[in-house]
Amino acid sequence: MSGYNTWLREGNFINGQWVGADSGETIDVTNPATGDVIGTVPNAGGAETARAIDAAQAAFPDFAAMDLMSRVGLLWKLHDALMDNADDLAELLTVEMGKPLAEAKGEITIGAQYIRWFAEEARRAKGEIVPAGVNGRRILVTRHPVGVVGMITPWNFPSSMLARKIGPALSVGCTVVAKPATATPYSGLAWAALAEEVGFPKGVLNVVTGSARKIAGAMMDSPAVRKITFTGSTEVGKELIRQSADTVKKVSMELGGNAPFIVFDDADLDKAVEGAMASKFRNAGQTCVCANRLYVQAGIHDAFVARLVEKTEALKVGNGLEEGVDQGPMVDMNAVEKVEEFISDARQKGGEVVTGGARHDKGGSFFKPTIITAATQAMMFAREEIFGPLAPVFRFDSEEEVIKLANDTEFGLACYAYSQDLGRAFRLNEGLDYGMIGINSGLITTVEAPFGGVKESGMGKEGGSQGLEDYLDTKYVCIDGI
Ligand code: NAP
Repeated sequence: MSGYNTWLREGNFINGQWVGADSGETIDVTNPATGDVIGTVPNAGGAETARAIDAAQAAFPDFAAMDLMSRVGLLWKLHDALMDNADDLAELLTVEMGKPLAEAKGEITIGAQYIRWFAEEARRAKGEIVPAGVNGRRILVTRHPVGVVGMITPWNFPSSMLARKIGPALSVGCTVVAKPATATPYSGLAWAALAEEVGFPKGVLNVVTGSARKIAGAMMDSPAVRKITFTGSTEVGKELIRQSADTVKKVSMELGGNAPFIVFDDADLDKAVEGAMASKFRNAGQTCVCANRLYVQAGIHDAFVARLVEKTEALKVGNGLEEGVDQGPMVDMNAVEKVEEFISDARQKGGEVVTGGARHDKGGSFFKPTIITAATQAMMFAREEIFGPLAPVFRFDSEEEVIKLANDTEFGLACYAYSQDLGRAFRLNEGLDYGMIGINSGLITTVEAPFGGVKESGMGKEGGSQGLEDYLDTKYVCIDGI
């Protein structure tokens, strides 16, 4: 068998078994490109999640005590299984989420890279021997897996958002209960199917689908869950931070963004446009690191806009499974309506739609790639995450001014700047309040680097050597009388 059905699982994976919801209820999963139902998943809740937590807790001691190289070996096998099945997994991702197949394949590939990266990093999760203040003592700092980890992920990167959590957790010996987004559960359940196939012990990786409130509630209430890692909206993230207080869990939060994309007069125009296209229109603008506000300096503004419009009008919109498609549908009609609201607000406040601006003739949730010029700080998109294929262009004059404008938001995830001036690159690094800065690059996600935001974009890092930290507790042993 090949194709997306190979890895489509309609059950939940709890303690090594594929099971339905206790109630027998299911949720339909639809393909946003066609509206067709592609299958169902269990509508599970608190009781099923509690069983998954019990299974993860029971599996934890043996898994944490497993020989490091045996655990690392399992992660290598997981990496290989992903790569061997990348075509089918990518098709499954496109069918449930809508992104073009090439992007879906890229997501599966980077997910596999995260697994391999953390298999490597776990071998370097070193402790320390620290000089003691008095003779006769030795101080050792050691690191230990935190225990059971609860994971909650969004629909926009349904496979790789879990890779960045499953990789570090499993590599250091934590066990997992994961809840994928309801719109895109199959790429999450596929992780369980792959883990089962490569031989992870039962209970190590559990995946539950259904009511977000009930599943997350069971995770938050359980003292056995020692860490929650969440990727999603800032609103839900704040709620989870509050809930984590009762059992004092570690939390990692990868939340919303409002990325400025700054183009200075001295930028390489072609590279800047290429970067803006990749940053803005990848995944139909539905990424947390998407360029949300394009600030373009007065001297290059008109040339930049002309080139950007030309490239935007050349984008092919369609079903992500079709050859040559650059932009798939938006995830649902709510997302379409939200983009329409941004456009209408901007129009009322003097914004000019220079291309797109409306639903696509293909119908459904397809939307025309859109550019608005004469954008101002009074418009909604200056404050809020767009999460759609809409690029607002703001004009600015000086470096000092644009740093202020770029920082004028509660978010601090990714930002971008194009300039040939090396001194300016350093000034931007120091002046921009963001967790990630792309200088002359519109695509910055890579396994070697710590992905994550500051301010209300979250806390904790995913990737890099820092990506292991949140899955480890630090202990210290003081040995006296030596
Ligand atoms: P969302 O509504 O916050 O949902 C994310 C996850 O949380 C889903 O699994 C969702 O379940 C669950 N959820 C919803 N309400 C919940 C509640 N009250 N308690 C516990 N869990 C709950 O976000 P989204 O719309 O799917 O994703 C888009 C957001 O994610 C954007 O803001 C984007 O910037 C952010 N994001 C951030 C990063 C990053 O690395 N910083 C990466 C990707 C996306 P259901 O699906 O069942 O509702």
